[in-house]
Amino acid sequence: MDNPLEHTVESEPWKYRPPYQIHDPKEFGPVKWRAHCQCGKVSYMLKRERALDAKYCHCRGCQVLHGAPFQWAAIFHKEDVSFTKGASGLAFYSSSHKSQEYELPTKVSCAFCHSPIMDEGRNVCLLFPELIDLTGSDEEKRRKLGAFKPTCHIFYEQRVLDIEDGLPKWSGIDKTSSLLDDRGCRLQQE
Ligand SMILES: [Zn+2]
Ligand SMILES: [Zn+2]
Repeated sequence: MDNPLEHTVESEPWKYRPPYQIHDPKEFGPVKWRAHCQCGKVSYMLKRERALDAKYCHCRGCQVLHGAPFQWAAIFHKEDVSFTKGASGLAFYSSSHKSQEYELPTKVSCAFCHSPIMDEGRNVCLLFPELIDLTGSDEEKRRKLGAFKPTCHIFYEQRVLDIEDGLPKWSGIDKTSSLLDDRGCRLQQE
């Protein structure tokens, strides 16, 4: 006899692992941040105060998928993240296979309002800090977002605008491509 629940666990084990595993709030630990999509059907909790790292990505793929000049991604361990309703209400998209099947890496969005939620990689989550719930004045909100402050720009060669913030800028992937200045000119490397 086919047990439908067992079948789900076997065929979709990822639903029972972080960040989709549904937690008892006590078991997850103290919540440092909460976040939600535009319609509010998707929300998650974060138990880490600061991102492991954060970057601005200027690649063409991020521009198209976000309808934005660049993407701001903050890196967290999957165990730091817990979706309140598990995988329900989420849509997945593999940009390399142009498929909606769940396969890593995948773009995760709200199935209802289509807000981009995160990129789930094989080992980490790349969260979009725009979704984080913040309180206070606009200035206080900006200060709180310091917990997700980017350390560099990547794929800066594909940028649609110059960003004069003095952060390191890589032509492609960080540390393995060329360093550029704010205007995109190649810097002399040792
Ligand atoms: Zn939504
Ligand atoms: Zn990108």
